[in-house]
Amino acid sequence: MNIVLLGAPGAGKGTQGEILAGKLGVPKVATGDMLRSAVKAGTPLGKQAQAYMEQGELVPDEVILGIVEEKLASADAESGVIMDGFPRTLAQAVAIDELLSARGSRVHKVVNFAVPDGELTVRLLGRAAVEGRADDTPETVRKRLEVYRKETEPLISYYQKQSVVKSIDATGTVDEVAVRVDEVIAVP
Ligand code: AMP
Repeated sequence: MNIVLLGAPGAGKGTQGEILAGKLGVPKVATGDMLRSAVKAGTPLGKQAQAYMEQGELVPDEVILGIVEEKLASADAESGVIMDGFPRTLAQAVAIDELLSARGSRVHKVVNFAVPDGELTVRLLGRAAVEGRADDTPETVRKRLEVYRKETEPLISYYQKQSVVKSIDATGTVDEVAVRVDEVIAVP
């Protein structure tokens, strides 16, 4: 099963994606994690992505699609994937639909993580203190939320048209949210 975790930065997709990947035994395609590793390792991809990430801007679609395609081609992605932080633009959503369709597959479920704006900001700035992420500064957080509203939020209606998206209340404890995710995915 191919699952997309949709939602603003700080909505908890990473945490829940990790839990879900463990339960279902399928790999996670987390483009933000992949990019951060590349930046850390100083690879050409990392060098290309770093400036965008530090500004809170999106990395260009063709760069992202290149790394996702590579990941999907790996053997362990055959039984399905959990996409976290991807797709983030309409162009990415259309591209992944085409890619999966060419393999006789599709996006089966989309979980939209709903969290009020004020709480997102508090969470992101709190995470900055704990994880020290370079893009969790007040100015970048504002930019990332703005980019989310403009580029990514329209994907909710894109997936509504495919009747595959369900929104969950993503406030509360990690365990409480995990139960809601399971209900949408129908994990026993
Ligand atoms: P994340 O950890 O998912 O919040 O991603 C951190 C940063 O990586 C984002 O602010 C973007 O600069 C970049 N990024 C991650 N995933 C994508 C994507 N699917 N499309 C474009 N940029 C991305």
